[in-house]
Parts: sequence; C-alpha cells; structure tokens
Amino acid sequence: MKNQRIVITGGAGFIGSHLTSKLVEMGNEVVVVDILLRGNKIPKDVQSKIEFHQIDVCDFNAMAKICKGADLVFHFAAILGVDIVADNPIETMETEVNGMQSVAHAAAVNGIRHIVYASTSGVYGHLALEQSVSEEILVDPRTSYAMAKRYNEIYLASLFEEKGIHSVALRFFNIYGLRQDNRMVIPRFIEQAMAGESLTVYGTGEQTRDFTYVDDAIQSTIKLAENINGFEIYNIANEKEATILDLAKEIIQVTGSNSDIKLINAPSKRYDYEVGRRYGSSEKLEKKIGYKPRTDLQSGLKTILPTV
Ligand code: UDP
Repeated sequence: MKNQRIVITGGAGFIGSHLTSKLVEMGNEVVVVDILLRGNKIPKDVQSKIEFHQIDVCDFNAMAKICKGADLVFHFAAILGVDIVADNPIETMETEVNGMQSVAHAAAVNGIRHIVYASTSGVYGHLALEQSVSEEILVDPRTSYAMAKRYNEIYLASLFEEKGIHSVALRFFNIYGLRQDNRMVIPRFIEQAMAGESLTVYGTGEQTRDFTYVDDAIQSTIKLAENINGFEIYNIANEKEATILDLAKEIIQVTGSNSDIKLINAPSKRYDYEVGRRYGSSEKLEKKIGYKPRTDLQSGLKTILPTV
C-alpha cells in the first residue's frame, strides 16, 4: 500500500495511531479524523506528515468533505473500555451506528470503494468458553458495544450488495502495545507494578484472554486492506490463551517489581461484561494473507516497558 490517500477515523487512538504511523511510513497520504478523547494523541514523529481533523465521525457533512479524493477509509473510531461502555451504553451505540453510517455515506458520495472496519472479538460473547472461536460460528453479542459492532458488520455486508462498496471487518482480540491507556488490563497492571502497588486481579484470575500484539494486528490489518474483495470478516488473534493471573505474574516478572497480586471483586458494573474465556482462531486470516499474529506475550510486554 503506497501513494494512497487514506482516511483513518480514530487515527489518534491506540490501534489507530499505530496504523497512522505505519501507513505514513509506507508512503501514503494519511488523513486522521479523531475527537481526541481521553488524551488521544498523534505520535510526534508523524504529526507534521498527516492531515488532521478534530471532528466527530457522526458529522456526515464534515466526513463527506474530508473523504473527497480518498482511496480507502479505515473506520477505527469508537467508544470503548468496559468501564466507559458500561457507564455510557447509549452513547456507545450511537457513535457506532451513526458513525458507521456517516462514514459509509461519505465513502459512497465520494466514490470510495473500500472500507476497513474495526469490529471486536466481543461479538462472540460467551461462545469462546468451549472452543477457540472462528468467523463462521454464530455470534452472541451480550453488550451494547458488541451488539453495535455486529450490527455494523451486517450493515457493511448489505452495503456491498446495495452499493458495491467492498469492506472487511476485523474482530480484534485484546490488542496491546505502546500507547494503550489504562482502561485496559495490561497498561493498568504495568502502572501498578511500576508504582509498587498490588496488581488488582478481578475474581479468581482464571479468566483467559488472547492477548495480541499491536504490530501483528497492524501488519494483518494492512495486508487485509490490500486484498479486500466483497465483504469479509477476520479474527485478528494470537491463538494463545493466558489467564489474567498468569498475566499479572508475567508483568511482575518483566518489570522486576516487588508488587504482590490481590484478588478482588470486579466492580459490579463489569459483571455483565465479564467473559470467562476468550481465544480465537486466525486460520482464516493466515489462509488469506499468509500471515498471522505470533509475538508471544513476554516479548510483546518487554517492548512497552521503557515508555511507562
Ligand atoms: N482485569 C483485572 N483487573 C483489572 C482490569 C481488568 O483482572 O484491573 C481483567 C478483567 O476482569 C478481564 C481482563 O482483565 O477479565 C481483560 O480486561 P479488559 O478490560 O482489558 O478487556 P476485556 O477483555 O474485558 O474487554
């Protein structure tokens, strides 16, 4: 992917900013749309190399102007983080649904044929309790966030039928890496470990996640974006389960911290969101692009430490 004009919504967010940096480095003209929630920032080294618009993705008129002349849109803007979504379920859904429609119509009126959409592994709900989940199984969204993401996947499928806009939806599995904020468990544990505080593991800590390193996720995302055909869904997963207790131990080890681990009850608003087990299959991804995430947790964690 080179010499393309690319719009990235949420391009100052965690995954979005990595995508922004990579696409600039590859020689593209990148346009970032972001409302800079929670201190989102464009990495300094790319600030002067991009076009930036601090606007809400739901603002169709602005989006239609910004998308003029673009070849491709990455729609990564979202309200996320279990605690924030639990407190703002309506706003979460509005941003998802209205934002997607605004982006899709802005693409349509400008003749843009390709969209890459950040969905979530959350659409699987509790299905991963028994198995590693793959794209063809039925989904089970249990939260407003996951429900709205699933709605948008279906919407994008219909957009291909109705308007011939091709797209790909990416179901990200607990992506981590540099610049993630402490809404998510890994930066939170690292912060606690560096401060010598107890790591607050919720429940028994036996719940699992499939932690996927951001550089792997970006490489997968760009390769998929180069090969969009019709509407397709892909898991972006590392295919390795880690318990939260093991994650806490690993973080104490890599930080060399003296912190201990405290098992505590999760905040009550998290109850509806907690999933006992979540891990995915990247088989379909590998078949399509010949690549899948492979960075192990310890190596990935080591790359984030110096900046914390
Ligand atoms: N978690 C935890 N302690 C914390 C924050 C999170 O034990 O201080 C657990 C949480 O219960 C969940 C996992 O870490 O099982 C991942 O949480 P996160 O909010 O990062 O993402 P989720 O997968 O729940 O969307």
